[in-house]
Amino acid sequence: MQFDFSQEHRLFRDSLREFLAKEIEPIVDEKEKKGPLTKEEVLDLYAKFRKLGIGYDPESLSVYFEDPFYYGIASEEISRVWASLNVVLGMSFPVVFVNLASEQTKEVMMPKLEKNQLIGCLAATEPEAGSDTTTMKTTAELDGDEWVLNGTKTWISNATIADIALVVATNKETGMQDMFLVDRVNSPFETSELHKIGWRASPTGEIYLKNCRVPKENALSHMIQKALSKGELTEALPIHSGITKLYAYMSPLSAVFCMMRSGMALMATGISQAALDASIAYAKQRKAFGKPIGKFQLIQDMLYKMVAITESSRLLGYKALYLVSKGDPQARLMSSLAKGYACEGCVKVTYYGIQIHGGLGLSDEYPLERYFRDARVMTIPDGTTEIQKLIVGRELLGKGFSAYS
Ligand SMILES: Cc1cc2nc3c(=O)[nH]c(=O)nc-3n(C[C@H](O)[C@H](O)[C@H](O)COP(=O)(O)OP(=O)(O)OC[C@H]3O[C@@H](n4cnc5c(N)ncnc54)[C@H](O)[C@@H]3O)c2cc1C
Repeated sequence: MQFDFSQEHRLFRDSLREFLAKEIEPIVDEKEKKGPLTKEEVLDLYAKFRKLGIGYDPESLSVYFEDPFYYGIASEEISRVWASLNVVLGMSFPVVFVNLASEQTKEVMMPKLEKNQLIGCLAATEPEAGSDTTTMKTTAELDGDEWVLNGTKTWISNATIADIALVVATNKETGMQDMFLVDRVNSPFETSELHKIGWRASPTGEIYLKNCRVPKENALSHMIQKALSKGELTEALPIHSGITKLYAYMSPLSAVFCMMRSGMALMATGISQAALDASIAYAKQRKAFGKPIGKFQLIQDMLYKMVAITESSRLLGYKALYLVSKGDPQARLMSSLAKGYACEGCVKVTYYGIQIHGGLGLSDEYPLERYFRDARVMTIPDGTTEIQKLIVGRELLGKGFSAYS
């Protein structure tokens, strides 16, 4: 078994670490306290990340998405410094579909995409449909050459700053769900901001679609079909062959979820690592009863639990990504296991981190309270822990044992 990164992966991680330490760490606390990042601030950060080869412009995409390990390393390392930033960057992924969209959408969006200045969001969740995606109410009705979308989406990362939304809606005629690429210039929609316990710099919002007209060609099924029939899919969408291999076993959306959930596991690992590093340093420096608190066995016990969870989360996250890269159908079980375990784990790790820091752990002068708040969010998006357990259960027992079908 290989437990180390390749030299290329290590180089990528090291240059990313150096960049984060120099450019991001000094601004995190101030920005996070201000609340959701503005569009200008996000575009400024996207421009910086592009220099490292992280982004969605055609050139960066071939690095960031073609090798799942780069995606995993970015997720862990960015989250170790600033979890909100990882969400702002990661949840923009629907912009990659612009390349396959109608001429109308391409015309206004491609120039921004080429410069990595396009922000996207995935709009699935609705006020009455979160875990249960079968009860979504947003509809799409064909009227001439356009789809007319109606519905409300909620808890959407990047909603308020996005140029593009990939919206899940039910085709009114067939009753089948599809996804629709909605560009905000040609198909305007309203949004509003939501506030939450953690990930505070990551904008989250509602999206209101009222007779929102979208070109017929922007239905995802149509875009994929067209690119496939022309033999242009891999060129237009340079996604790792492992993910496309997974299409043989699951829907394209489930395959993308395998990647996203592995990324969430590594995001949780990054938060855990940050809390662990801070706690080790503090345990060596803080004195009580005449000696460093690190000499107390109960403090060492907490450090033991923290490192055990952090290391296990990392192994599960990268194992899931390894399976994704091989196109192995076990990726579904492993990515849900990794997501469920690591996201619950980082809540415990950051709890211990605060405990080791005593009163200072609760102060917003120290980053521990931010790690704890960010960790607490992790168990809900991209499928709650309960849903990950049900996926693992179904994968272990077989389809007939699915708890929710
Ligand atoms: C910060 C944040 C960012 C988000 N970003 C996005 C985004 O970018 N795009 C997007 O589309 N959505 C996003 N979401 C929405 C997220 O995916 C949903 O919140 C999540 O799927 C849970 O749905 P819900 O909140 O409606 O909870 P519900 O589905 O109502 O669940 C409530 C509780 O019931 C439990 N439950 C539900 N069904 C079962 C079952 N069968 N068995 C056992 N327990 C069950 C859940 O685990 C949970 O504990 C985001 C959410 C948050 C908090």
